[in-house]
Amino acid sequence: MIPFSKPSITQLEKDYVMDSLSGAVLSGDGEYTKLATRLLSNIVGNNNIFLTNSGTDALEMASLLVNVKPGDEIIVPSFTFSSTVNAFMLMGGKPIFCDINPLTMNMDETLIDSLVTPKTKAIYTVAYAGVPCDMDTVNLIAQKNGLLVVDDAAQAVGSYYKGRPAGTLSDFGCFSFHETKNYIMGEGGALVVNNDKYLNAADIIREKGTNRKEAIQGLVDKYTWHMVGSSYLPSDILAALLAAQLERFDEIMEKRQSIWKTYHSGLQVLEEQGKLTRQFIPEYAKHNAHMYFIVLPTNQVRSKLIDYLKKSNISAYFHYVPLHSSPMGESLGYTSEMLPKTEDYAERLLRLPLYADMTKEEANFVIDTINKFM
Ligand SMILES: *Cc1c(COP(=O)(O)O)cnc(C)c1O
Repeated sequence: MIPFSKPSITQLEKDYVMDSLSGAVLSGDGEYTKLATRLLSNIVGNNNIFLTNSGTDALEMASLLVNVKPGDEIIVPSFTFSSTVNAFMLMGGKPIFCDINPLTMNMDETLIDSLVTPKTKAIYTVAYAGVPCDMDTVNLIAQKNGLLVVDDAAQAVGSYYKGRPAGTLSDFGCFSFHETKNYIMGEGGALVVNNDKYLNAADIIREKGTNRKEAIQGLVDKYTWHMVGSSYLPSDILAALLAAQLERFDEIMEKRQSIWKTYHSGLQVLEEQGKLTRQFIPEYAKHNAHMYFIVLPTNQVRSKLIDYLKKSNISAYFHYVPLHSSPMGESLGYTSEMLPKTEDYAERLLRLPLYADMTKEEANFVIDTINKFM
């Protein structure tokens, strides 16, 4: 069976995790958290990184920093994971769903302006498949209207927009290290704070609303409760796993890129024949090979292809049921026709298996099987 995704675990990960168990700190912010944070800082070129228990946590931390209040409107794509929207709805925020640009499956930047109202507080972008949105355009709209921008870069660790690293492109960037992402800690994530004004609050919110960090740094005698926060810091044992993965950053990236390129050249003829559409990467982006997707002509063809691949022992999956047409989205008053492009492309998109330890032979077998089906 060719799985859809598979973590790449070597002796280094095992050594670091075992070593972390004999460390002085098993809870948060021990030596391995410092190492993983430093490695991530080098990759992203930003020192203001907060390791969290998940990408979901990073989005919640960002929402607390945005200070979302009941009734605030947030412009967000519907083609995303529930966490992007839960994060601000937990604080009473209201999602205003924006249709997608089918080329990237990201939010269509040209529609954002028309969704802004006096109640709009922020724009939450999603870098689908690790490809950033056109962030210069998004930031300009935000600036013009006094909005904050949170970038759900859960899938985009190691990607770039016009030469600038994903995660650093807006007020807040949110990464995930879930086991299905490029670099993993089982469950884990990180918040990148790109506006120094929020750094102190980020430290406090991450530590259950206390100034414990200042106490650890010796800046105050004892720490106490300052604001509403939560427990967002991961165990140092998990940080050890991430540190090993980030030590292998280039190796994992190169292996994924090689599989991505194999798919892209191997499926070119089928695209030229009009049988499918390959994933599109805009000129401005350097992606991290998080995902390889194709778009089929109809939903029926996609279903048949999924079955055919399954019979050949290949796991290929479609992706999000758009949030606006989910049971929760309907309860908010949305109907499926309201975002026609999201609806249409979500029904036809198919993700192919892609993981660092996948062989070129396996990728070629997937391509051959798709060719046979067509
Ligand atoms: C994976 C993912 C998340 C959630 O990350 P977790 O670490 O699983 O909480 C959020 N948004 C997007 C776009 C994701 O792909």
